[in-house]
Amino acid sequence: GIKIGVCALQGDVSEHIRAFEAALSLLGEGGDVFPFRKAADIPLCDAIVLPGGESTTISHLLKKNNMYGPLRTFKGGIFATCAGLVLIGREVDDPRVEPLGIMDIAVGRNAFGRQRDSCEMAVTIAGDDQPFCGYFIRAPVIVSVGPEATPLCYADHIVGAVQGPHMGLSFHPELGGDLRLHLLFLERLRAYATAP
Ligand code: GLN
Repeated sequence: GIKIGVCALQGDVSEHIRAFEAALSLLGEGGDVFPFRKAADIPLCDAIVLPGGESTTISHLLKKNNMYGPLRTFKGGIFATCAGLVLIGREVDDPRVEPLGIMDIAVGRNAFGRQRDSCEMAVTIAGDDQPFCGYFIRAPVIVSVGPEATPLCYADHIVGAVQGPHMGLSFHPELGGDLRLHLLFLERLRAYATAP
């Protein structure tokens, strides 16, 4: 079965584990979803989750644990939400965060402003006519999408993008029980893994 590692240095790890376990069971598939804290675990995964949390803290901890290199050369798919989105792009508007440069996107932190610190918003997913309830918590936005990446989700701004097997989202799809984005990620991951 598939091995999905959730980067557990900081952030909402258990919610991501539960959501991917639920998605795998919907698909009737076995698999292993587990937290990881060591760089050596990265190449053992088929997919990695970079959770929400505090991107400056996670950036610092990724450096301290020597994870930048193994993440940049990782061959599987990365599912990056909120603080994870801040980390996965090529550019971010805060010098305290070192971007991984895995997705061709520029990200702005805390972009919804203080009056909308946390909110629920209807998100439009490209190719899906049912709105998705997005939970935004001091959420970043995707400021620009370069030619390697493709916008996927919209809510006033671009709030989701894909690039190959990777998916980056401003909001928290692991909250709320709607598994469409997890299922789409797993479907795309399979497509890229079996591509010639
Ligand atoms: N604002 C946070 C950051 O930029 C992200 C918040 C979250 O992950 N919920 O790190």
